[in-house]
Amino acid sequence: MKHPIRKSSSWKSLGLWIAGVTAGLLLAGAAVREAALKHLNADAEHTALQYAHMLAASVPDLEPLLTRGQPSPAALEQLRRLRKAGDVFRFKMFARDGRQLLVSDDLDRPSFGGDGKQLGDDHGAKSAHVRDIVLGGRNYIELKEGAGRADRPWLYSEAYVPVLKNGGILGVVEVYVDQTARRDRIQSAFVTVGGVVALVLMLVGVMGVSQWRQRMHAHRQAEERMRYLAKHDALSGALNRASFNDVMQRAAWRCDTGGAGFAVLCIDLDRFKEINDSLGHSAGDEVLQQVAQRLRGLVRSGDDRARLGGDEFAVLQSGVRSPDDVATLAKRIVESLAAPFEVAGETVTCGASVGAAIYGVDARATDQLMHMADLALYRAKAGGRGTFSFYDGELDMQLQARRELSRDLRAAIAAEALTLHYQPLYAADGVTLTGYEALLRWSHAKRGNIPPSDFIPLAEDTGLIVPLGAWVLRQACADAARWPAPLSVSVNLSAAQFRDDQLVPTVQAALGTSGLDATRLELEITESLMMTNTERVVQTLRALAGMGVSIAMDDFGTGYSSLSYLWRFPFDKIKIDRAFTKDLADDEKVSLIVRSIISLAHALQIRVNAEGVETTAQMVALQQHGCDELQGFLLGRPAPLASLTHLNAASASSARRSTGAAAFLEQAASV
Ligand code: C2E
Ligand code: CA
Ligand code: CA
Repeated sequence: MKHPIRKSSSWKSLGLWIAGVTAGLLLAGAAVREAALKHLNADAEHTALQYAHMLAASVPDLEPLLTRGQPSPAALEQLRRLRKAGDVFRFKMFARDGRQLLVSDDLDRPSFGGDGKQLGDDHGAKSAHVRDIVLGGRNYIELKEGAGRADRPWLYSEAYVPVLKNGGILGVVEVYVDQTARRDRIQSAFVTVGGVVALVLMLVGVMGVSQWRQRMHAHRQAEERMRYLAKHDALSGALNRASFNDVMQRAAWRCDTGGAGFAVLCIDLDRFKEINDSLGHSAGDEVLQQVAQRLRGLVRSGDDRARLGGDEFAVLQSGVRSPDDVATLAKRIVESLAAPFEVAGETVTCGASVGAAIYGVDARATDQLMHMADLALYRAKAGGRGTFSFYDGELDMQLQARRELSRDLRAAIAAEALTLHYQPLYAADGVTLTGYEALLRWSHAKRGNIPPSDFIPLAEDTGLIVPLGAWVLRQACADAARWPAPLSVSVNLSAAQFRDDQLVPTVQAALGTSGLDATRLELEITESLMMTNTERVVQTLRALAGMGVSIAMDDFGTGYSSLSYLWRFPFDKIKIDRAFTKDLADDEKVSLIVRSIISLAHALQIRVNAEGVETTAQMVALQQHGCDELQGFLLGRPAPLASLTHLNAASASSARRSTGAAAFLEQAASV
């Protein structure tokens, strides 16, 4: 499984965050420093200008001083007074040609410092440039460091301010301003601002990191959840099928390399569907959760539990030494799950069946092992629910074959791949065709023709007989309705069809859709049906007879005390089983029984059919005993609808008295 969350991208974004914050800090630092420097320069210029103006305004005889370089005593006095004022620690004066006239430090000396120096001499390579600016009438200012010299502060500015008069330069005043204190002030402001900025940025950074960590945590949790979901069933918390397979593989490997043995137990809930249908899906979910909980309580710590889907669970039991270990756990599971569940405010019982297979004993491949546990489970369910079965090769193979066949039958029914054959019924004369019995045929794609004696019981056990029987009714009625003569059609019914209260409407619908007259339909039932819930069956038979449909008792004489049923319901016909017909001609006792049955039936106004007529001797004997109807290979085998060509012959002559002999010949030819 692919994880949508990528760790590397989270690390990358954290890196970007840190880089961004650091760059922000550096940029902010540089910006503050730049601003501080600018501020310092502007401040120095301002101070110097003010001082220069003050000097220019307060020194008497300034003009002669600047032009001649000799201060008057009044000017000298004033200049000395102004030598140190505030942050100004020195000033110089230059003539308008740049000649140095005086230096404040030298005012007590005779030469006043006007010792032939030129404006800008202190600036080295820049001196010409500085001169050009200042003598051109503009201010020039420069920040300098005292660099430990005794006569200079740590930081100071030199500002040249030209003294102008009437648009021309009189001279230049250079003011030295001590900027150390200012620098310290600005620097401490800078540190404060920088500190605040750094703090803010760090705060943002810390928030970013904590947010990142939260995101990483959420991602990790999501990842863990994904990993969990990939391995577990979300509803029950048990393993899912895929990881159960992995667990089995590992257990098999351990067992193969000398480790402990293990078994797989497949568990299926018996009445889960009913709970789901009656109480709803959320109640069903709750049952599944509770089942998972109970299983957790039953297994040991090394065992694994899984939900394979729907209401199927499985347990891998480890440390198995003998089948008894498995049987003990299986029984405990059956017992535990048989106890009622409390869901949606109701108490429900669900029950479960368990099938088990042991690794190394029943199979050496895990998928095979699982399959065997599943087969054993199927048998446990088939043999009455709430039980436990071990895998049993032979039994499970048979059951497996049956299971496959029933799956194929289900598909064949859905695809309407089964067909009906029709066997003719003749009047006692053996010539007059009276009707046909519809008999199911299944031609299996791989296994060829499967006899009804194999698939009808299967259809009955699986409940498939209900849709199948309904189809037979529809098809037989539809076929008969198209016959050119109004012959009867007999349809066999299974007891299972009577358990479904849809039988009467199904018959009604088959007649209604086909337009077949009800009197032409005959339904054949067996004695065994009469044994089960007789009252209900009799009611259904009455309803059917009430519609005009004939009812025949099939296979008469093979079952139980048949006679008792004869007076419970007014059958139209009984069909003597072919076991009697077979021995009729040779066994005097059988002949006597058949004669008695016929006279008894006639006394009750019930017609008699004899099945399995294969020889003329049998036919003659039946005719002598007064049998009403004959059926058997002698007169006609079951054949597909398309080959019933004598039908046309029947319609061509008369409706009921068809050319039986001709039909026989044609039938015989078609077989
Ligand atoms: P059944 O109702 O007793 O049907 C008569 C069976 O006897 C048919 O077997 C038929 O082929 C066979 N038969 C007819 N004449 C002779 C004969 O002279 N000699 C011998 N040895 N056999 C003869 P089939 O078709 O194999 O059907 C077997 C059983 O399957 C039927 O017995 C019936 O119980 C059941 N069956 C067939 N179709 C249906 C159906 O549509 N619904 C139900 N519920 N059962 C059906
Ligand atoms: Ca029959
Ligand atoms: Ca029969």
